[in-house]
Amino acid sequence: MPELPEVETVRRTLNQLISGKTIRSVTVTLPRILQQPDDPAAFAAMLEGCTFQSVERRGKFLRLLLDGIVLISHLRMEGRFGVYPGDEPVEKHTHVIFHFTDGTELRYKDVRQFGTMHLFAPGEEFKRPPLNKLGIEPLDESFSLESFQRALGKRTTKIKPLLLNQEVIVGLGNIYVDEALHSAGVHPERTADSLKVAEKEKLFHSIVRTLSSAVEAGGSSIKSYVNGQGEMGMFQHSLLAYGRTGEPCGICGTPIRKSVVGGRGTHTCPKCQRAPMSSDAEAAGHPSRPNAVKNRLDGTRAQHSGNPAIPKR
Ligand SMILES: [Zn+2]
Repeated sequence: MPELPEVETVRRTLNQLISGKTIRSVTVTLPRILQQPDDPAAFAAMLEGCTFQSVERRGKFLRLLLDGIVLISHLRMEGRFGVYPGDEPVEKHTHVIFHFTDGTELRYKDVRQFGTMHLFAPGEEFKRPPLNKLGIEPLDESFSLESFQRALGKRTTKIKPLLLNQEVIVGLGNIYVDEALHSAGVHPERTADSLKVAEKEKLFHSIVRTLSSAVEAGGSSIKSYVNGQGEMGMFQHSLLAYGRTGEPCGICGTPIRKSVVGGRGTHTCPKCQRAPMSSDAEAAGHPSRPNAVKNRLDGTRAQHSGNPAIPKR
């Protein structure tokens, strides 16, 4: 599934490809993609004659601005946009085609058919679903340590599911949450209210750094997102924790562990990211010996798997 960096890459590419192009007509062959209006004829009528001004983004939603109307598109699992000459054969699973007056076409292909499109009057899109409840935007200039701290508040939720919650902060999916927490040295099962100010600050910078480098890396394989079948950009080669179970941590060399947090596969370094229990033991006067850390982490895992063999502390 595309995360924020992938969607941002699509946005940048589409912005270059379709800005200034005027829609002559629209063909819809799978009406279920259309959410508002859900009638293909009404959808087409609202867009015909309109010109794309620019392509923006809000979280993982693309905001395609036309003169007088806004198209909100979510790619979900497999959605892909591509710009083609009008005489090029239409690929299978192409569900919506925007025919331009210059003879080219913007085609929307979606094998899984989970993608969505909504039309709004300009400005209205922020007042109604699906954009009205979205949280702060981590790559926006307005994203600050203060706004991040405010978003976390005094919540007692575990930090990983909290960061995945689009109503708190948008655009972070499983990959980048694991990467940001790893690089900040914060264990995903820590509760938000247990984070010290310095940890929140580190996490804030990690989120911005992780997403920005991923956007840059995504930019190096633009074609694979927009016209091709590629799943990810070059950033997969820069991952330090995600998907690296058993491989050495990119920071300290300890093997990365996989566990489940909030129902999601989660990758952590047992050394760089102390489990919540370890700070308690620390406070109780246990020295931080490598063995002690290992046992405590095993204990944490044993609890989750229902294994009663929790080491004595
Ligand atoms: Zn490590």
